[in-house]
Amino acid sequence: MSKKVIVIGSGPGGYPAALRLKELGAEVCIVEAWDFGGTCLNRGCIPSKAFLDTGHRVHAFEGLRGLLREGSGVNFSADMLDWEKVKARRADVILKLRTSLEKLFQAKKIEVIRGKAAFSAHHEVTITFPDGRTEKREFDAAILAAGTRPSFPPPFRDYHAELADSDRIFDLPKLPKSLLIVGGGVIGLEFACFFNAIGVKVEVLELLPDILNGEDPQVTRAVRSSFEKRGVKFHLGKKTVKLDVTPDLKTVELEDGAKLQAEEILVGAGRAADLAGMGLETLSLGWDRRGVKVNDRMQTAVPEVYAVGDVNGISLLAHSASRQGEIAADNILGGDRAFDESIVPKCVYAWPEVGSVGLNKAQAEAKGLTVKTARAFHLGIGRAVAAGETEGFAQLVFSIDDETVLGAQLVGGPATELIHVLALAVKLKLRRRDLKELIYAHPTMAEAIHEALHK
Ligand SMILES: Cc1cc2nc3c(=O)[nH]c(=O)nc-3n(C[C@H](O)[C@H](O)[C@H](O)COP(=O)(O)OP(=O)(O)OC[C@H]3O[C@@H](n4cnc5c(N)ncnc54)[C@H](O)[C@@H]3O)c2cc1C
Repeated sequence: MSKKVIVIGSGPGGYPAALRLKELGAEVCIVEAWDFGGTCLNRGCIPSKAFLDTGHRVHAFEGLRGLLREGSGVNFSADMLDWEKVKARRADVILKLRTSLEKLFQAKKIEVIRGKAAFSAHHEVTITFPDGRTEKREFDAAILAAGTRPSFPPPFRDYHAELADSDRIFDLPKLPKSLLIVGGGVIGLEFACFFNAIGVKVEVLELLPDILNGEDPQVTRAVRSSFEKRGVKFHLGKKTVKLDVTPDLKTVELEDGAKLQAEEILVGAGRAADLAGMGLETLSLGWDRRGVKVNDRMQTAVPEVYAVGDVNGISLLAHSASRQGEIAADNILGGDRAFDESIVPKCVYAWPEVGSVGLNKAQAEAKGLTVKTARAFHLGIGRAVAAGETEGFAQLVFSIDDETVLGAQLVGGPATELIHVLALAVKLKLRRRDLKELIYAHPTMAEAIHEALHK
C-alpha cells in the first residue's frame, strides 16, 4: 500500500516535496492556508524581482542620458512612473506563475486543500477551512513547510500596524518620498536598490557593524560604495531606542541621540517561524527562534515528521527549501539523502549583483583552514568596460596546500548566474588548475574568473 503523506505549506519547500512524493508513488495532499506558492512566489523572490526589474529599466535609461541628441525632447525622470502600474505589473507576474503552478498540480492530480493545518494527534492533522469547518486527516508521514513571517524587533514591534514590512511594502497605497529601511540584509538591500532607482530618498539602518551579515568585507564594501554613489545613506552599528509615528512622518531615535526621519519605514530585520497554534506540542516537538530542529535528512525529533525550508531556520532561501523538500520526500520513501549547505549559492539581485558560494576567507579561517584568495576587478575586463559596468570583481578562495576551490564571491555583472560555475567547482572539489583548463569566451564577464585564476 502506498504511504499517505501530508505536506503543510505550498511554498518552494512544500510544493516540490509534493511533486516528488507523487512521482515516487505516495498518496499525497498539500494544505495551504494562504496563497499557493508561498512567500517566494507571492510576497518574496518573485515580486521583489519584478520590482527590481522596473528599477533596473530606469537605471539603464539613466545610462543612456549622456548619449541623447541635444534637444531630442526626451525628458524621462523616475517620478514619471505610475506606482499603480508598477504594482499591477508585479501582480500580473505573480498571477501568471501561480496559475501555471496550480495547473501543474491539477495535471498531476495532487490533492490541494485550502485551509490551515494543525497536528491534533500522532499521525493526524486537523484542517480548519476558511468557513470554519474542520476535517481530520491521518498520515503515515508529514512534511512541515510552513515558512516564516517578517519579524519586528523592539521598539518597532509596538508599531507593527503603522510600519511596512516585506509583505505590505508591495501594496503601499502611495509611493513615499522618503523610506527608512530597517535591516541591511538581502531583503533590505534589494528594496533599497529598487526604491532608490525610482526616485525615493532611501536610508538603511543596521544594528550590526556591516550590511549582509557574514558576507566577505570586500563584497560589502563594494556594494555599499555603489549604493552610496547613487545616494543611499547607511547607518551601521546603530541601535534604535525610540520611535515616534505620525501619519505623515516617522522618526527613529538612535542610542547615540541622533534622529532619522522618513515618510515610510520598512522593517526588514529578519524573519521568524510562527508556529503557535500548529499543535507541535501535541507531538512534543519544540521549536525556538530559529525554527524546528531537524537532522541533515530533514527529520524532526518525531521520526515521521519532517520540516523543510524556512521553518527549520537552516538557510532561509527558496532554493534551499526546494532541495530540502525533495530530500524529505525521498527519505520518507526509503531514501537516505542529506542536505549539503556548503554548496548553496547566496545571491543579491540588486546592482551590483552579488553571488557567493562556499567559504569566504574569514569563514575558512574560522574552520582552521589556511587559505589564499585571488581577485580580479571588472575594470580590466573588456565586456564590463564595453557595457559601462565596471563595478565589482571575481574573487576565489583556495586551500593553501593543493589549491582546491573552497569558495567564491562575485560582485557585479551577472554574478547571480555565474556563481553556479563556481558552485560546481566547490561541489566537485576542483582545483585552480582544473578551472584554468576551461576556455573562457571573449568578451564575457566570466573572463574575470579567468583573470582571478591567473593572479
Ligand atoms: C522580499 C523577499 C524576497 C526574497 N527573495 C528571495 C530570493 O530572491 N531568493 C531566495 O532564494 N529567497 C528569497 N526570499 C526567501 C524565500 O522567499 C524563502 O526562503 C522561501 O519562500 C521559503 O520557502 P518555504 O516553502 O520554506 O516557506 P514559504 O514560502 O513561506 O511558504 C510557506 C507556506 O506555508 C503556508 N502555511 C503556514 N502555516 C500553515 C498551516 N498551518 N497550514 C497550511 N499552510 C500553512 C503559508 O501560508 C505559506 O504559503 C525572499 C523573501 C522575501 C520576504
